[in-house]
Amino acid sequence: MGIVQRLRNHIGLVPNPVSRTTREAHARVRGADVSISVCPYCAVGCSQLVYTKDGRIVDIEGNYESPINGGTLCPKGAATWQLIHSPLRELRVKYRAPYSDHWEKRPLEWAMERIAQLVKKTRDATFVHRDERDLVVNRTLGIAHLGGATLDNEENYLIKKLFTGGLGIVAVENQARI
Ligand code: SF4
Repeated sequence: MGIVQRLRNHIGLVPNPVSRTTREAHARVRGADVSISVCPYCAVGCSQLVYTKDGRIVDIEGNYESPINGGTLCPKGAATWQLIHSPLRELRVKYRAPYSDHWEKRPLEWAMERIAQLVKKTRDATFVHRDERDLVVNRTLGIAHLGGATLDNEENYLIKKLFTGGLGIVAVENQARI
């Protein structure tokens, strides 16, 4: 018996003073699938590791293999997880009807349908196949799109494809410089 164990026995310590809870504790990302993504917030473009279990995001952390952020995230990037899980996340839109003096809460589905109808109507009314010099332009100047920092890479890709190539919208912008 080693000196440490003899001392433990002498003063009455149990051999392994670790509770079952502690012994069974483990990182919450153990067994999770991991995907590489990019922080949606700013032009620094820090790389993130997104951990999911059963299709649910359980953690987001800095990607230690990234030459940009080397595993770190600033406080904003470190809070990306809340984009999905915050109880304060708005799930309805606020709508003010023409000439109304107050806002109403409407479901997202209602807003999507209304936006789709207005895009169709406006594009039909403003689409130009050839400009005044007879050059083919296939564009509409009647619709603009402004994205936000919480759009991810895939959403921005689809927006670019659909709005410019698909619908002919010229004014497509995003507040984040990505
Ligand atoms: S973690 Fe911070 S610095 Fe990095 S991209 Fe996100 S917001 Fe920008």
